[in-house]
Amino acid sequence: MAKLSRQTRQKHLLQEELDKFTSFFTGEELFEKARKKDSKLGLATVYRFLKDLREKRVLHAYSCNRQMLHSTEEGGHCHFICEQCGKTEHFHLNKIDFLKQGIKGDVCHFQLDVHGICEACKKHMV
Ligand SMILES: [Zn+2]
Ligand SMILES: [Zn+2]
Ligand SMILES: [Zn+2]
Repeated sequence: MAKLSRQTRQKHLLQEELDKFTSFFTGEELFEKARKKDSKLGLATVYRFLKDLREKRVLHAYSCNRQMLHSTEEGGHCHFICEQCGKTEHFHLNKIDFLKQGIKGDVCHFQLDVHGICEACKKHMV
C-alpha cells in the first residue's frame, strides 16, 4: 500500500477532530485541536479543508458574534436580538417550509436574525 501523503494524513486528522465537535465550532478551534497531534499543520490547510466541505455541503457556516461558526447540522442558526439592550439569544426553528416556499433553488442551510424586545426589557417597560 502506498504511503499516504502528508496532505491526505492531515485531512484524515482534521476529519477525525471535526467529528468530535457536537455543536458549532470555529476554524481556529479545529486548528488548535488538530495541531496538538500534528505540529506541522497550518491554519491555511484547515481553512481549505473547511471550504471543501462547505462546497460539498456537508458542512455549513454561520456568522455569529463577528465569528464564522461551522456545523455539520443543516438546522440553521437563529438569533433574536434585543433592540433595547443589544443582547442576542439563540433559538431553534424546526419548520422551515415557509422559507422553501419563497425560494426556487435548493435550500442548504439558513441563518436568521430576528429583532425585537427581550423579556427582561419588556418587564422594564411596563
Ligand atoms: Zn449549507
Ligand atoms: Zn449565533
Ligand atoms: Zn433587552
